Amino acid sequence: MAFEPLLTRNVGRPGSEAIDAYLASGGYQGLKRVLREFTPEKFVEEVKSSGLRGRGGAGFSTGMKWGFLPKGREKPRYLCVNADESEPGTFKDRLLIEKDPHLVLEGIIASAYAIECNLAFFYIRGEFHQGHRIFQKAVAEAHARGYLGRNILGSGFGLDIIMYRGAGAYICGEETALLESLEGKRGYPRIKPPFPALVGLYGCPTIINNVETLANVTLIAERGAAWYAAIGRPPKNTGPKLFCLSGHVKRPGVYEAPLGVPFLELLNEQAGGMAHPSRPLKAAVPGGSSMKILPASKCDVLLDFDSLAAAGTSLGSAGGIVMDTGTCIVGALLNLARFYAHESCGQCTPCREGTGWLVQILVRLERGDGRMEDVGLLADIAGRIEGNTVCPFGEAIAWPVDSYVKEFREEFEEHARRKACPLRAAAGR
Ligand code: SF4
Repeated sequence: MAFEPLLTRNVGRPGSEAIDAYLASGGYQGLKRVLREFTPEKFVEEVKSSGLRGRGGAGFSTGMKWGFLPKGREKPRYLCVNADESEPGTFKDRLLIEKDPHLVLEGIIASAYAIECNLAFFYIRGEFHQGHRIFQKAVAEAHARGYLGRNILGSGFGLDIIMYRGAGAYICGEETALLESLEGKRGYPRIKPPFPALVGLYGCPTIINNVETLANVTLIAERGAAWYAAIGRPPKNTGPKLFCLSGHVKRPGVYEAPLGVPFLELLNEQAGGMAHPSRPLKAAVPGGSSMKILPASKCDVLLDFDSLAAAGTSLGSAGGIVMDTGTCIVGALLNLARFYAHESCGQCTPCREGTGWLVQILVRLERGDGRMEDVGLLADIAGRIEGNTVCPFGEAIAWPVDSYVKEFREEFEEHARRKACPLRAAAGR
């Protein structure tokens, strides 16, 4: 499918992270247009009518989220940029931060203008050393050229950005844990409501937006809501999207396409197909590690919020993981469960204890000590975690467990029956 890259248009150009290269390619024209032609309220409406939905995982309307801020101005408002990308298989925000930081920055400034906020926080994953250095330089460049600071481009609007490095906890990508962490506390998710738009950072109204979401705001600022809303599958799945593909693909990477691109087209045409031609597709998780798995027979799907929901999974952060027929599904789930058991913040019992139990059961199935009743036990534990925790991390492990067992039950039972991993046994390991 012919598609003009929008979010990745500057990626691959030498020096793409520098402000001079960004300005030479027409950068900051969108911001100028917003400051010149829109009141903050009008730009909120513009983003609403673009149909933009958050790219961090939940897929909620960005303009509507902004509209939840209270009307009164008794307290300051804050914009927090969620750059704590940590989902296994997801690495799209890192690309934008490192290769085109000004595209993100322009969206941050336009968004802050829309929500009438004068201080933004850029919360970046601690391990992103390079991204932190590059983005900090971009902020300094923008200050020096009058795109940040007081009275931006003579508009009367001012914005400063504080960079904040996380300490490597996956859970701090959850928006309220991120706020706790920013306030210098342990990254425990908060019970909602109240939602951050009403009671957020330091008790003040706060909007938290993902990096890719804000890069999309730049596109809307440049070319308008009507143009943007025609991309993808309108009216509810609009705009371009970055899709990550990893696992058993020939060319793992980040690929840009309109929302609604067929998964198999992305896999076979853009990513070059399966890594080993003799081992065809067995399953994929199109939305990222915490979403439900699809067996190959169900992988003929469109990659957008609603098509994937109809297929029984979710777009999530679009961190697609591809598995070939050489993959042991029990082993893959064990790998995932270990990650989530390690990253559980421990605040609530079903998640803290349940993730550990899942690991123990999967270890014994993989090792050859499993029992037939373990298969049902996995699904039972997942069902008791789901809906009973403070934050969506509970679902992030319950959904994979539930779907892996449901779609590949025979393989789990085979492990219990043979007292061995069938793939390892076949390979003589
Ligand atoms: Fe922490 Fe897990 Fe509870 Fe979320 S669900 S608050 S990660 S223990």
